[in-house]
Amino acid sequence: MHKDELNSERYFNIHTHLPGSTHQEVSVYILSQDDLISERVNSPYSCAGIHPWWPEDIDNNQIEKLKISILNLLEAGKIWGVGETGIDRLYPEYLDLQKELFQWHLELANKYQKPLIVHNVRAGSDFLEIIKAEKPQTPWLFHDFRGNMELVDSLLKLHEDCYFSFGISLDNSQTVRDVIKEIPIDRIFLETDVQKHLDIHDVYIRACKELKLDLPALKEQIYNNFLRFEPSIH
Ligand SMILES: [Zn+2]
Repeated sequence: MHKDELNSERYFNIHTHLPGSTHQEVSVYILSQDDLISERVNSPYSCAGIHPWWPEDIDNNQIEKLKISILNLLEAGKIWGVGETGIDRLYPEYLDLQKELFQWHLELANKYQKPLIVHNVRAGSDFLEIIKAEKPQTPWLFHDFRGNMELVDSLLKLHEDCYFSFGISLDNSQTVRDVIKEIPIDRIFLETDVQKHLDIHDVYIRACKELKLDLPALKEQIYNNFLRFEPSIH
């Protein structure tokens, strides 16, 4: 898709693991392990990374192979964003490896000037430490954000190019419904993640209700957020 085709009529789904988007939807697709190994990219908004859960299923050898594919894809200019990558404290046995992999992705995002797609589960203070140690040079998206406003404020203070996206959690978390009202509106995105039966239109409707905005106003806002998020047009 050419950039000219972006407009505020379209829905922006900032994070999905399910390929294929409709004509009205701009989807940022997270490449699967199979996509990475075959170095197959079909979407102009594809992200490449090693998910923090994957070390549970794959060994170091496979991780090294994925790293080579990710580098090849970045070198070939086929990648829009780096990730998803991150820290998930519900998987404590992989914490060191997750941190090491996160650092690797962060350096790639800086080197290739790509947005970084961040998976954060109960690891807010880990990210604050990382940002303090090495100032990010590109926008970061905290996808499926479930943290509180204190974390949002601390992150934005250290790295003003942080964004936060919301999906199914708007339905099942009061914390998320409270936080989305407080976050600066130019930092908000919406997503369907791995949810097969969740339509991005429905996520917009849920967010409209919380933000007290009508649908055209929210579409205009998220479109502008997307333009701002892409480092290439900064
Ligand atoms: Zn995801």
